[in-house]
Amino acid sequence: MSPVIDEKVAPIYQEVLNRNPGEVEFHQAVLEVLESLGPVLVKYPEFAHQKIIQRICEPERQIIFRVPWVDDQNQVQINRGFRVEFNSALGPYKGGLRFHPSVYLGIVKFLGFEQVFKNALTGLPIGGGKGGSDFDPKGRSDGEVMRFCQSFMTELYRHIGEHTDVPAGDIGVGGREIGYLFGQYKRITNRWEAGVLTGKGLSWGGSLVRTEATGYGAVFFVDEMLKVRNDSFEGKKCVVSGSGNVSIYTTEKIVQLGGKVVASSDSNGYIYHENGIDLDLVKQLKEIERRRISDYVNYHKDAKYVAGGNIWEIPCDVAMPSATQNEINGKDAKMLVENGCIAVGEGANMPTTPEGVKIFLDANIAYGPGKAANAGGVATSALEMQQNASRDSWTFDYTEERLQRIMKNIHQSCYETAEEFGTPGNYVNGANCAGFIKVAKAMVAMGII
Ligand code: NDP
Repeated sequence: MSPVIDEKVAPIYQEVLNRNPGEVEFHQAVLEVLESLGPVLVKYPEFAHQKIIQRICEPERQIIFRVPWVDDQNQVQINRGFRVEFNSALGPYKGGLRFHPSVYLGIVKFLGFEQVFKNALTGLPIGGGKGGSDFDPKGRSDGEVMRFCQSFMTELYRHIGEHTDVPAGDIGVGGREIGYLFGQYKRITNRWEAGVLTGKGLSWGGSLVRTEATGYGAVFFVDEMLKVRNDSFEGKKCVVSGSGNVSIYTTEKIVQLGGKVVASSDSNGYIYHENGIDLDLVKQLKEIERRRISDYVNYHKDAKYVAGGNIWEIPCDVAMPSATQNEINGKDAKMLVENGCIAVGEGANMPTTPEGVKIFLDANIAYGPGKAANAGGVATSALEMQQNASRDSWTFDYTEERLQRIMKNIHQSCYETAEEFGTPGNYVNGANCAGFIKVAKAMVAMGII
């Protein structure tokens, strides 16, 4: 598909391609934002004059480091660690750490770039960053994961801090990993600095609702999109990919709002359960026992497991991709639309390819892009930072209400901005323009830095 890109912006994209060779996911994320920005430059010519787009596409700082550790067989292992501190115009760098064998600079930069606009949309004072490693926690013992995290933090600690850069979790990094990372940070710095990491355990500085936040927030966002169309989750058949943190709490909130989730997956295949996914079982298998989703069918004989299957072939009203980038291609998007899907809310980051996005937009379904729909996770991380700063801890209900209000505001801001720039109902343009304008104005105010 040839991209639709404004002539003022096209040379900037070419420069990004030339300066960042081989980083295909980063190119994809940049192009998606740049395609929306033509009308913004007409309204704000100072952004072009000040080369805001070029500056936003260049991370403020990129750190790549060696992470050596010793496995259970006494063998030395070497991984690569990354932290890309993308933009701090609105606050300290904020964004998760991903531990997955596919991680390289291009993935970290795509995630960091998206994070800048997502964080701006939350309305909270946080800049954007992202990090991670090509370490694969799957099949590793707790001791191995701990030694890896300790080695990772032994370098990372000098670059982060509550006013500088505040990492959190992402794929492969949950409560266990954040605990090991925090422990090592505390040990090296001799500081009990709660605000340096978010996603902490509840008994040592964590926030209620942070675990649930990304999934709950994504469902709140889709609920707002449905409300605009005089519809709701009530009675909707839903498919939620993945079976990790985002997927589990997306499923939980859909059920609370009256919908039914019939499928769940991991990187090996999907399960289909017509009667509705047994979420307690998924939590037990994935959060506690760290097993595969295929084990689900040992407990429910009426469910089926499709090894290597494509979860998007299941007809549904609402699809919520919650696993990883580019998990919905053009063919999948076409299948979803033809099967009657009316709404897509992205819990994952950039889970739909550009071809897929175009199909959703052309079909005029309610399509909520990740940088808006999954912003509830980082927003609640910022609420965790607020609680840490005031040495307070809020109740579950109060925190969830704050999250819901934030998602409502993000929806409204995307909706109104899409209208303002002449593309009503296009949440991609709405999110890109609203996020960009907020960061750009702050950068203009701060001069050439
Ligand atoms: P988890 O590690 O908890 O779960 C990831 C899930 O996605 C697992 O079921 C995993 O299966 C599956 N998955 C991962 N990689 C692939 C792949 N290449 N192909 C197919 N399936 C895959 O991660 P999270 O739930 O935290 O993150 C999921 C998505 O949500 C990511 O895109 C992340 O960036 C995004 N996100 C997360 C936030 C958070 O707060 N955690 C915030 C905002 C966005 P398997 O076990 O087989 O690998």
